[in-house]
Amino acid sequence: MKTIGHFINGTHVPGQSGRTGEVFNPATGEVSAHVALAGPADLDAAIAAAAAAQPGWAATNPQRRARVFFRFVALINQHMDELAELLSSEHGKTVEDSRGDIIRGLEVAEFVCGIPHLQKGEFTEGAGPGIDMYSMRQPLGIGAGITPFNFPAMIPLWMFAPAIAAGNAFILKPSERDPSVPMRLAELMLEAGLPAGILNLVNGDKAVVDAILAHEEIGGVSFVGSTPIARHVYATAAAHGKRVQAFGGAKNHMIVMPDADIEKAADALIGSGYGSAGERCMAISVAVPVGEETADRLVAALAPKVERLKVGPYTDAATDMGPVITLAAKQRINTLVERGVAAGAEVVVDGRGFSLQGYENGYFVGGTLFDRVTPDMEIYREEIFGPVLSVVRTASYEEAIALPLKHAYGNGVAIFTRDGDTARDFAARINIGMVGINVPIPTPLAYHSFGGWKASAFGDLNQHGTDSIKFWTRTKTVTARWPSGIKEGAQFSMPTME
Ligand code: NAD
Repeated sequence: MKTIGHFINGTHVPGQSGRTGEVFNPATGEVSAHVALAGPADLDAAIAAAAAAQPGWAATNPQRRARVFFRFVALINQHMDELAELLSSEHGKTVEDSRGDIIRGLEVAEFVCGIPHLQKGEFTEGAGPGIDMYSMRQPLGIGAGITPFNFPAMIPLWMFAPAIAAGNAFILKPSERDPSVPMRLAELMLEAGLPAGILNLVNGDKAVVDAILAHEEIGGVSFVGSTPIARHVYATAAAHGKRVQAFGGAKNHMIVMPDADIEKAADALIGSGYGSAGERCMAISVAVPVGEETADRLVAALAPKVERLKVGPYTDAATDMGPVITLAAKQRINTLVERGVAAGAEVVVDGRGFSLQGYENGYFVGGTLFDRVTPDMEIYREEIFGPVLSVVRTASYEEAIALPLKHAYGNGVAIFTRDGDTARDFAARINIGMVGINVPIPTPLAYHSFGGWKASAFGDLNQHGTDSIKFWTRTKTVTARWPSGIKEGAQFSMPTME
């Protein structure tokens, strides 16, 4: 049986806590590995390594820091097939989708190859007589990242790439459900030339997360996961004086206007609602057709596509969507579907009771399509995080836009229409962080930034893009006057630039 420990100071270590967790193959339900669950002593070892290595790394000129990422990008590309296979074996998503997970993270590693430019400060010559003023962006020191199971390559890369490129050391605490790919990424960073101790990986659960949130040597914490834990991380890390960004759950709507191409909208909903078994924070889980006729046409187009979804293991190349991550996740999804039925939603396609011959112990859930869902229902309010799409019928554009406007979550949203004026009004008025216009999953690219609003994100700076460099650095502003100023003698009133 494979055992997965921690990666501290460039070395694999078994860990000191004596606690372990099980990693499953979600397609078969079999245990594939045991993972160490760190305690405070393991974190202390990682922090000691980070603190020793960080000053030297921060003093390394930015072009040299960038070159580590150039080599790292090449290494990931070289190992792409191996990484994608490993990711699918622990997560369950298709190999093609795992490649997407890796590539969306890799793109952030490419982005930070520009760190010499990204980290440049500001300079004002002659801010006063003989006075120059300049700002530097210096690393926080040690940063930490706590990541979810659903993107085990992309989200760790979103965090550690900008943090490390900017001169920080980093403690990564990946999801205990699929820890192998983050571990390979840490190994590849070392192989790319990163000094030992700059990227340390501690596996674990709440115990080590809480130790991270309170550790006085950690300057900044980035979290991605569910909203209740994001709130806990945000409040606790802030109470300990840390900079924190915490991204949470989602309930993403797609409005379908009467003038939209219904076939295209339906295809977009299938990919974004059921891809990765709905386990994406940018998945569309609510379709909002405007007008009864639009709704009838949309449901008629969706139903056969949901019925035809090929649910299977990642090892089958024909699979559209794999299993969900755990047995508990499968049971939770089925329970929510049952409650939706009990609340009066119309089940157009019922994914409950799905079973795959030869994989009876796998965590498979069939695709479910609900029609006539109303905003008071639990299946509308809660993030299901499974292959379940709800159709909420509306009579007008105003009624449709009111739904995402009033929803607690604000991660992503989309509108399908041929009318530029409607799309423009929608983008202007919606209170959601990422907006798609005829694009179902509007996940911004590496050089823009990613982040939701409302209960989907706490903190004020987004992931990747220039925001990430701001998050992982702090500003120091120097006001400098050279000898001629000193000759003028002491000044006792408040200095101004008048
Ligand atoms: P999760 O909240 O269960 O776990 C996330 C991380 O927190 C893991 O590393 C886990 O070990 C740790 N954790 C779990 N319980 C904890 C506790 N009680 N105290 C401290 N730490 C704890 O989330 P998940 O199931 O791994 O991921 C799915 C969730 O993540 C969904 O809600 C999804 O929408 C969200 N997500 C959000 C984004 C985004 O950018 N907004 C991106 C991906 C996923």
